[in-house]
Amino acid sequence: MDQPTLCLSLLRDLLDHSDQLSRESDNSLLELLRTLESVSRLASLMALTVAAEADRRGVPSQHSCSSLGVFLRRLLRLSPGESAERARMARALTESIDESTGTRYPPVLPATATALRTGELDLGHVRVIARTLAALPLTLPDQVRRDAEAFLTEQASQLDPHQLTAVARTLRTRLDQDGTLREEQDAVEQRELHITRDRRGRTRIRGVLDAEAGAALQTAIHTLASPGPAADGRTDPRGPARRRADALLGLAHHALDGGGLTSGVGERPHLSVTIGFTQLRDVAGTGTLERGDPITAQSVRRIACDAQVIPAVLNATGEPLDIGRASPTVPEPIRRALAVRDGGCAFPGCDRSPSWCNAHHIRHWVEGGDTALRNLVLLCGPHHRAVHHDGWQVRVVHGRAEFVPPRWVDPTRRPRRNAGPHDFSRFDAAS
Ligand SMILES: [Zn+2]
Ligand SMILES: [Zn+2]
Repeated sequence: MDQPTLCLSLLRDLLDHSDQLSRESDNSLLELLRTLESVSRLASLMALTVAAEADRRGVPSQHSCSSLGVFLRRLLRLSPGESAERARMARALTESIDESTGTRYPPVLPATATALRTGELDLGHVRVIARTLAALPLTLPDQVRRDAEAFLTEQASQLDPHQLTAVARTLRTRLDQDGTLREEQDAVEQRELHITRDRRGRTRIRGVLDAEAGAALQTAIHTLASPGPAADGRTDPRGPARRRADALLGLAHHALDGGGLTSGVGERPHLSVTIGFTQLRDVAGTGTLERGDPITAQSVRRIACDAQVIPAVLNATGEPLDIGRASPTVPEPIRRALAVRDGGCAFPGCDRSPSWCNAHHIRHWVEGGDTALRNLVLLCGPHHRAVHHDGWQVRVVHGRAEFVPPRWVDPTRRPRRNAGPHDFSRFDAAS
């Protein structure tokens, strides 16, 4: 009998005698679980190795399959996604041979391939590692790429794939600032919220938010969702899900009642971001949102621009330098004066009212810009982004905000202004 068949019959034998498990000690049950998991992991790796060998020999095309993925799908009755993923992993984890020259190429993921043989890694880990490395920029030096793979492989031996994903994301943010910023911006474009009614007249909510928006929503909801005071000695009977729903409703009422979530009345909800001072000043590196999501320094600068954020600015050794005061609060009188001057978002063509706007520091406070009218301009969320990320420049000329477009928008870079009340006043006489 060949070895895999022997292995299979041994496993069947084990299953047939599973009634004897009741006699095993707890410890031997744990040991058995660990061993069987290693067996299944090694079997998966072996299956990928066999698939890669079949692929090298051209077996898929002999069976009129256009790719290894299609071949695996038909042979093993796998879903299209699963078979394509296995084909990708088979290639990444085994060496390839150029048939015409006979040259052998090492696996794309050599460290992962080696670690897999110990049975410590699961294919779930490999997926995370493969995806992360594939997403890194091609310009990255080979050595950095190898270091990144080794780092993730080492982490994978201590973390589950879900936890590894978080580590991989942080690593990627560090190695690929541009790509991560692009992704952050794509995630903003992909924000969506669906509000539908079901047959019983209830409202269903479904949507997707980018990390930053998610953190803002979470913070706002979390602030309002704490259990109510136990007035009669009883604890709040509402479960966490119910309290979150009530909190969302609270937010809606607050906005509708004219509390104006960003009007500066009372303590505004805060979003916590941690970042090193030099990273923030030099716009390099990454910060961390409250829930551990990495975020580019460029985005931290934007959200730290107004007072809705508590930046925990760290010194060179990573100790908090100053928490909560580093971002200067725009005082209410200045905010009101800004609302009068700009009338709302000052960006050309925008009509968002002041309560939807951030007070943007034209010269960032981290560079010594002061919190004074001449250095501030009101911008709504999307236009605040445009100014921080899309190359628009702002200046205040004769008490009015003026925007210089990036070259790709206007090669001559002619300044633009939002039409304010004074622009329309000359039409008053005509009417
Ligand atoms: Zn700003
Ligand atoms: Zn705007």
